[in-house]
Amino acid sequence: MRVLIPLVYKDDRVLLKQVDGVWTPPTGEFSFSSEKELPQHASEITKLQAGVPSTFASLTEVRSLGEQEAYVVAVTTSVEDVGEGWQWRPLSLLPDALALPKESITNATRILTRVQKNANAVHPFQKQLQRIGAQYQAEANRFLNTLQSRQSTSLVEWPEYTELLKRMYVEAGKYGLQLLNVVKQADLSDEIKALLESLAEELSESQRQRLLELIEQYIAAGMTLEEALQKALTVFKNVNVYAAARTAPNFAFHHAATIVAIEESVDYAVYHTARDERVCPQCAPREGKVVRIDTSPYYENLPAIHPHCRCWMLFYTSLDEVREQEGEEVAPAEGVFS
Ligand SMILES: [Zn+2]
Repeated sequence: MRVLIPLVYKDDRVLLKQVDGVWTPPTGEFSFSSEKELPQHASEITKLQAGVPSTFASLTEVRSLGEQEAYVVAVTTSVEDVGEGWQWRPLSLLPDALALPKESITNATRILTRVQKNANAVHPFQKQLQRIGAQYQAEANRFLNTLQSRQSTSLVEWPEYTELLKRMYVEAGKYGLQLLNVVKQADLSDEIKALLESLAEELSESQRQRLLELIEQYIAAGMTLEEALQKALTVFKNVNVYAAARTAPNFAFHHAATIVAIEESVDYAVYHTARDERVCPQCAPREGKVVRIDTSPYYENLPAIHPHCRCWMLFYTSLDEVREQEGEEVAPAEGVFS
């Protein structure tokens, strides 16, 4: 079981109740299977405990609370009347005795404001990157089908497959250049192309190892080579090719953008999530995070964070520009002195 803590907001106030001297938000246990369920669980908890219906805004943090893992979410309500003992506490005057650290509430407030200002934000090149991923997926599956008739030893080298990955990385990287508005007709420099191709080679090699592992595993389980190969290829297509198609273009995109940003002395990047109920616990707290480019906090926050990550960075030349374009609700800049 996990704990779900909905922070209920209304007009710069948050809903709390004093329990044994400590101000506590609505809190409930839930069994977790998918981020998609958070809105429903949060709404049930606020209705049941505080007597208010609520609208989900965002997951804002996952933290440990005693022995348990607590999911903190920001929700809003339009209802003023609350259940017995519940009070609307102004965000500017939060009590000291809080069941959650004050930063959790401040951070959730910041993310809520960003979500409300700019709901349904999407990656600026989402469609293009999806198209590149889909094209790779189709070509990769076609290539892998041809392997079915080969001997497993011929899997030791697969230059055709590596070429497919390289093409995907390079195509996606071109949009990374366009993000910074440096070039309209995106032509990758030799340096960027070489970096993207070496990243593609790394992925190719780890994917090849994965496929070989799968084949070995099925042979060890008693299958014939032919059966093992067929099963391994099916799994590999459904899991590894699928994940790469949805992740690698975004990864390549950000790596290309990073080099251009460094070359052009563009110093800051701001993290953006899709701001919907599917944003995962790894990405949700990063919303609005400001990082100085080419520092360790930057690389720790560079999308894609995980397979299927839909997040993106936007780039700025100064912190003034960050505030002007993104509003005051961004997080304090990280990596500034490193
Ligand atoms: Zn993400």
